[in-house]
Amino acid sequence: MLLLAFAITVSSNFDGGSIGKVEQPAPAHLRCAVEGQTDQAGRNRQANWYYFRVDGAKGVPLTIDLVNLPGEYNFIPNRGAVQKDTIPHYSFDQITWHPVEQTEFDAAEPRMRIKITPTSNKLWIAHTPPYTVVELKRMFARHKLKPEIIGKSVEGRDLYLLTIGKGPKVIWLMSRQHSWESFTSWAAEGFIDHLLSPAGAKLREQATFKIIPIADPDGMAHGGVRFNRHGFDLNRNWDVTDEAKMPEITAQRKAIFQWLDSGKPIDLFLSLHNTETAEYIDGSQAAKDLVARVYDLLVKNTKFAPTRPPQIEPLKVDTGRMNVVQGLQRDRQIRAMLMEQRITFNPKLGRIPTVEDRKAFGAQLAETLVAALGL
Ligand SMILES: [Zn+2]
Repeated sequence: MLLLAFAITVSSNFDGGSIGKVEQPAPAHLRCAVEGQTDQAGRNRQANWYYFRVDGAKGVPLTIDLVNLPGEYNFIPNRGAVQKDTIPHYSFDQITWHPVEQTEFDAAEPRMRIKITPTSNKLWIAHTPPYTVVELKRMFARHKLKPEIIGKSVEGRDLYLLTIGKGPKVIWLMSRQHSWESFTSWAAEGFIDHLLSPAGAKLREQATFKIIPIADPDGMAHGGVRFNRHGFDLNRNWDVTDEAKMPEITAQRKAIFQWLDSGKPIDLFLSLHNTETAEYIDGSQAAKDLVARVYDLLVKNTKFAPTRPPQIEPLKVDTGRMNVVQGLQRDRQIRAMLMEQRITFNPKLGRIPTVEDRKAFGAQLAETLVAALGL
């Protein structure tokens, strides 16, 4: 019976799941390598998406170490995106997520140690509350949404585009260019929920909202980090045209350009992102004044807690390094912006953001973008 009590298993073979090699140095001690992902040239390794299930550990005081964290960002080596303040989240039902109460970070290895005694035989651990196709389809069903399919990913998954509202101004929202950034999907869901609620009726009259809810569906399914299945960063290759290697960018660009070529405007474009500890909104040259207005309104009316003021994205970058904001500025002078929000402690919230916080922010974001357009 004792043996049975310690028949602990770890798995990640479900939507969005990811973990690397797992060792068990002691019956209640798991050492889990974070899988990480590198780009098409084997560079820029980022190891900050883990989402796995621990079975059979009810009542066992577990020690779970997350290791193999060091990587590179924009070709500069680092000690890893998982740091002291990036508190892992846990769940017993894959629906309600909480920050782990007891963690110890060892910067020397580096290693994130979780101490937890599960009250259930199933325990899920993730970097941030996951948002997979399960949550996406649940949201579509709740609103009876029938999204347009604008193309297919490398592995043939649908690339969705939603159109909500019929107002004259056009706001184009993009989420989840980087698959680890699950909080952006929760914000996008809050944005969509608000637009389709009675409170969103006025916004739907004022503006038309075009929304790409998941820019990298393959990454979301596989528990990827920031590259598509061929290793291309979907927010770095907007100066490259390669339908075979980056069908996602090709389809997204085509949908945007077809809209413009049919004589319709895009008054504001925004791509949502997450970082570990930084929070800001940057814009294209064309969006200089607009991004300042959005920034001021977000600071005043929401829990957006910037770590620096807005900057203008430069247009001179190396080949394959142009993000969506830069690409849309270069090709069509679109007033485009990119927002980063931290996943760690937010001083205005007074806590690590929750799913509900991100959804509430999404609702406020919809109001803010419309207000920034002077409506
Ligand atoms: Zn990102």
